[in-house]
Formats: sequence, structure tokens, C-alpha cells
Amino acid sequence: MTPGALDGRVAVVSGGAGGIGQATARRLSALGARVAVVDIDPDRAAAAAAQIEGAAGFSADVTDARSVSDTVEDVVAAFGTVDVLVNNAGITRDNLLFRMTDEDWDAVIAVHLRGAFLLSRAVQQHMVAQRSGRIVNLSSIAAGGNRGQANYSAAKAGLEGFTRTLAIELGPFGITANTIGPGYISTAMTDATAVRLGADPEAYRAQTAEITPLRRVGTPEDVAAAVAFLAGDDAAFITGQVLYVDGGLSL
Ligand code: NDP
Repeated sequence: MTPGALDGRVAVVSGGAGGIGQATARRLSALGARVAVVDIDPDRAAAAAAQIEGAAGFSADVTDARSVSDTVEDVVAAFGTVDVLVNNAGITRDNLLFRMTDEDWDAVIAVHLRGAFLLSRAVQQHMVAQRSGRIVNLSSIAAGGNRGQANYSAAKAGLEGFTRTLAIELGPFGITANTIGPGYISTAMTDATAVRLGADPEAYRAQTAEITPLRRVGTPEDVAAAVAFLAGDDAAFITGQVLYVDGGLSL
């Protein structure tokens, strides 16, 4: 995409202080968007935004309806509207099914699914009023099933159905909704997974690269580029789709 492709647009990135979220916020800003970096920790949200031109940090717990609606109001007060929503906030609480606690299940479903629902519901009114908008949800190749991730894969598969329904309901108002499904991307989340499995993160990345057709793991920037494409005018006629950004790992 050419510089300036998102000039004048306002983007909200949830989990914007994390690996993929921060890279996405940077990429959208480089294309001209004003970006609201939304994260649960106010200091991390502010610190991430401080490094990005035209960005501002906002704290919200995406699982909390009041926190989400207050934050979207704050973003609209600061920037005027919301043109792009990236539902990226996420957590993992991995365990085999027989060891998975109610809390592991509820926490993961709440952040990924309820979070995307609450933020999408809060921003759609602004997008519907202006008859345009872009919603990009972060799924995962784990939506297809992954050992130790019953909660996470259920949430991610749920997000794909959620996205298709948004595409149907919001399409008449000029709003697209799509999903990005990353494979293994090098971030704090995947490093934590390696440690939980008793592996050294560096060795785990190397092992994953070996079984990936493109022979490397992904970077947050790989995902950010795909988000930017779906957020821009070049993707105007694409809606309800899942784009896997995984170097071929899911094949
Ligand atoms: P990170 O852990 O680096 O970033 C996630 C961010 O979301 C963190 O800043 C986290 O804050 C924040 N967050 C967590 N809970 C909440 C909440 N309730 N409200 C607001 N913010 C919250 O993860 P990644 O960048 O790796 O992942 C980003 C997205 O991409 C996730 O949805 C993930 O599932 C998805 N994904 C990632 C893959 C990967 O390989 N990394 C692969 C496939 C999908 P805190 O750190 O304080 O919890």
C-alpha cells in the first residue's frame, strides 16, 4: 500500500501494546491513520502509543462492557470517529482438556470472543452512521484445532463465524469484516507457550521454522501488513473471509 493510503482514517487496535498489536498500530500509522492503542494496562498502552506518530493510548479491559463503551467514547471524543477496528487483544491459558479449569476456559473465551463482540458493537454505530468501516479480527490457525488449546481454538473458530455474521449484517452499510489467521508469530505470547512446554523459546522457534514451508516463523510485521491490506481501499470488495498468514504452516 502506498504511504497516505489511510490518511484521515481513525483506527482502534485492541491489545495494541502487545507484539502483533503494536506492529499493526505502527503500520496503520505509517499509512496515515490516527491510531488508538487500546490495552488493559494504561502504562503499556501509553508507552506503545508514545512511539507511534499520531497515536494515543487508551486503557480498556475488552471483557468489560462499561470499560469498552467508555473507551470507544473517549476515542471518538479525541479523534472524531472510528473507521477501522482491529480486534487483536488476546491471552492463552493452555491445558489439556482434563486439566483445563473453568477459569482457563472462561478467561480465554471472554477476551477473544466477548471482547471482539463488545468492541464491534460499540464501534459499529459510528461506522453505520458514516456508511463505511473496516473490522479485522485476529483468529489463528489454531481455529482448526490444537492440542492443549480447547479454549483458544474454540474462541478463534467462534471469531471466524462471528466475522462472517458481521459481514452479512454490516455489509449493507459499507462495512467489511474479515479475519486474519496467523500461524506461529514471534511474540511474548509464543515465547510464553514455549516456556510452558518446557522448551527454550529460541529452540522452539527454530523447530517451528523447520516444519513451516517458508522455513521461518512469522513476525508481527507480517501480520500487520495483512491487517493494513484488509483495512484499506484495495480490499473494498472483500468481506467475511479468513486470510491465513502462516508461511504455509497450516497446509
Ligand atoms: P501479546 O500477548 O503480545 O499481545 C496481546 C495483548 O492483548 C497484550 O498487550 C495483552 O495485555 C492484551 N490484552 C490481554 N487481555 C486483554 C484485555 N482483557 N483487554 C485489553 N487488552 C488485553 O500477543 P500477540 O501479539 O502474539 O497476539 C495478538 C493476537 O494475535 C491475539 O489475538 C492472538 O491470539 C493472535 N495470534 C497470535 C499468534 C502468535 O503466534 N503470536 C498466532 C495466532 C494468533 P497483557 O500482556 O497485559 O495481558
